[in-house]
Amino acid sequence: MKWEDSLEKIKGVGPKRREALAKAGIKTVGSLLSYYPRKYIDRSVFGKPEQFFEDQEISLKATVLDKGRVQRIRGNLSIFTVPLLWQENKISAVFFNQPYLKGTFQENQDYYFYGKVKKAYGGTKITNPQYVIASNPGKFFELTPVYRNIQGIPGSVIPKALSQIFAGDLEVRDSMPEEIRSSEKLLDMKSALKVIHFPQTAEDVIQGIERLKFNEALKINMGIMSSAREKRYSDIEINLFAGLESFIGSLPYDLTASQRSVIDDIIADFEHGQVMNRLVQGDVGSGKTVIAVIAAFLMAQNGYQTAYMAPTEILAQQHGRSFSDLLKNTGITVEVVTGSLKAKEKRAILERVAKGQVSVIIGTHALIQQSVDYYNLGLVITDEQHRFGVKQRSQLSLKGNQPHTMVMSATPIPRTLALILYGDLSVSYIDELPKGRKPIKTYCYNEASLYKILGFVQEQMSKGRQTFVICPFIEASEELEEVRDTESVYLELLQKIEPGFRMACLHGRLKSEDKESIIEAFNQGEIDCLVATSIIEVGIDVPNVSTIVILSAERFGLSQLHQLRGRVGRGNHQSFCFLVTNSKSEDTLARMKVIVNNRNGRKIADEDFKLRGPGDYFGFKQHGLPKLGLLNPTEELALIKRTKEIAEVIFESHNHEMRIFRDDVLKSFYIDIADISFN
Ligand code: ADP
Ligand code: MG
Repeated sequence: MKWEDSLEKIKGVGPKRREALAKAGIKTVGSLLSYYPRKYIDRSVFGKPEQFFEDQEISLKATVLDKGRVQRIRGNLSIFTVPLLWQENKISAVFFNQPYLKGTFQENQDYYFYGKVKKAYGGTKITNPQYVIASNPGKFFELTPVYRNIQGIPGSVIPKALSQIFAGDLEVRDSMPEEIRSSEKLLDMKSALKVIHFPQTAEDVIQGIERLKFNEALKINMGIMSSAREKRYSDIEINLFAGLESFIGSLPYDLTASQRSVIDDIIADFEHGQVMNRLVQGDVGSGKTVIAVIAAFLMAQNGYQTAYMAPTEILAQQHGRSFSDLLKNTGITVEVVTGSLKAKEKRAILERVAKGQVSVIIGTHALIQQSVDYYNLGLVITDEQHRFGVKQRSQLSLKGNQPHTMVMSATPIPRTLALILYGDLSVSYIDELPKGRKPIKTYCYNEASLYKILGFVQEQMSKGRQTFVICPFIEASEELEEVRDTESVYLELLQKIEPGFRMACLHGRLKSEDKESIIEAFNQGEIDCLVATSIIEVGIDVPNVSTIVILSAERFGLSQLHQLRGRVGRGNHQSFCFLVTNSKSEDTLARMKVIVNNRNGRKIADEDFKLRGPGDYFGFKQHGLPKLGLLNPTEELALIKRTKEIAEVIFESHNHEMRIFRDDVLKSFYIDIADISFN
C-alpha cells in the first residue's frame, strides 16, 4: 500500500466507516498512519493493596475465589461480581452490564486485572477491569495504544486497520537524507510509524516520537525559510520627533508604562533606519489602538502616510472614529475606505490619497486592492493579525517603497510560536491593563441555568448597562441542532426579556449599512441587548457593556472566548462573562476551566496551544501553519533550533530544487515531509 491510497482495500472498513473516518480527516493510508495514539496503556505497573489508587489504573494479580454471580437490577441493568484474593486481601472485580461474562472465570486460578481500584461501600473494588488468565498472559503486558474516539468507529477498528496496513507491503517514502538520519540517530519513517502504533516497550514509543517530532520541526523551519524576508534598510526617514511629547500629553489619559515602552521600541526602530517589522502584542483592552495612533502621528509629522488594515468593516469604522477623535487637534487627515462606500465617494477619497492629502487611511482588504495608490506610504499597520494570512500582509507592504510594518495582535501568540512564525519579527508586549479595570467575573453554566442568567442580565440592564449574547451560528443548523444560533435566540429572548429593553440582532449576513447602523446605535447606548455572532469578537469598544453571555461556548476556541470576553470590562463597571454549554465532554470542561480561571491572554494562549496545537489555534487553513501532531513548540524550542540548522544545510545543498519546493510550500504548507522530495 502507498501513503496516498484510499482505505477501500482495508477489511473491516466499509463505506459507512470510511465516511465516518473522512469526517475526522482520515481519508488515506497516510492520514490513518498519522492518526497517532492519544496515550498508551502500560499494564506492567502493579499496585499494592495498602496503597490507595482512586484515579489511576493499575495492574494486580489476584486469585479468583469463585465463579462470581450476576445480579439483575431493574430493566437491563446487571452487575457481575467476582470475589478475589489480592495478597491476602479480599476484594471484588465488578463488571456492569456484562452478564455474558458469567462462566469466564475459573475458581482458584490466578488472573491479572487492570483498572481503577476504589474503596467503596461494601469493600475494595476494581470496576470493569481488563483481565487475562495469569498462566497465559499473551500481549497483556505489551504497551497498548489508545486512540481518540471517532464517532461511528468502534475502538478496535483503527488498530485492526493499521495492522493490515503494516502486514502488507507498505511503502513509506522517507525523504530524510541518510546522513542526517544517521547523525541524528533517527529511525526511518516506516519504523517510526510502526513503533508508534505497535510498540513493544516505552523506549520504542520515545524513539518513534522523536523521529516524527523531528519531521515536524524540520517542516516548520523549511516553511519559515522559504518565506523569510531579508532585513533591509529603509528609505523612509523619520527624524522629526518634536511634537510627539505634547501630542502624547494631549491624549485623554496617561499612557501605561507598557504602552510607553512600546512607543520607545518603535522610535528606536525608526532611529536605526532599518525597515521596521514589529509585532505589538497586548491583551484585549490593553490599549493598542493608541499605539497605532501615535505611530501614525509620527509618520504624518515626517510627511508619510499610514495605512491601517482592520479585519472587518465594522472595525474599520470603529477605528476611523478612534483615530479621528485622538488626532482631532493635529490637523492630520483620516479617511476610512471600505468596500461599502459608494463608488463616487470612494474615488474621491482615493484621489486625495494619491495626492498625499490624506495621512491616515483606514480600511479592510479593500485597502490592498490594486485601486489604491499611495502618495508616500511609510507605515502599514495590520490590526488583529490572526485574521490575515501572511500573504495578504506582504502584498500591502509591496505597494509602497518597502514601508515599515507593524502588526497588532490581541490574540496572544506564545513567544516561541512568534519566533517560529516570524523569525525576523521583533516583538513588543503590552502586559498591563490601564488603571481602574476590574477583573471580569467569569462563570460556566449549563443551559438549564439560562433563565437565571437572563434574570441577572435584566438586573444589569435596569442599572443602565448593556449586554452581548453570543451564538456560534447565524441560523439554526439541521445537522448540529444543539448549537445555538442568533436568529432563534433573538426570537426567544424577545419572549423572555421584559419588553422595556431594546434588543437587536447582528451577524455577518446583514447588509453593511444595517450592520453599521446597529453598531452605531449600540455605541450610542440605544440598544440594551445585542444578540450577535462572533462578528463582535475583535475591537468593539463600548465601555458600558457589563455582561457577555456566550451560548454553545464549546464551539469557540479558547483564545476566541478570551477575545469575546474582552468586549466587556472596558470601563469602570464590574463586568461578567457567562460561558453556557451543555457539553459534558472532558475536553470542553477543561477548556472552560481555563477561561474561568485565567484572566491573562498569554496564559490562555499557552494553555490553548497545549490543548490543541497551533493549527487549530490559528484556524489552520487561513494561516499556512503546518498542523502539528506530536510537537509542542512551546516546549521544544531546542529541537526547533537544531532542525533550523539542518534545514539550512538542506536548502543550501539543494538550491535549485528548493526553488521548486518553495513554490510548493507556498501553495500548500501542510504536506507531510514524507511527501517532499529532497533529490
Ligand atoms: P485593544 O488593545 O483591545 O485594541 P483599545 O485600544 O481598544 O484596546 O483600548 C481599550 C480601551 O482602553 C479604550 O476605550 C481606550 O480608550 C482605553 N485606553 C487605552 N489606553 C489607556 C490608558 N493608558 N489609560 C486609560 N484608558 C486607556
Ligand atoms: Mg483593538
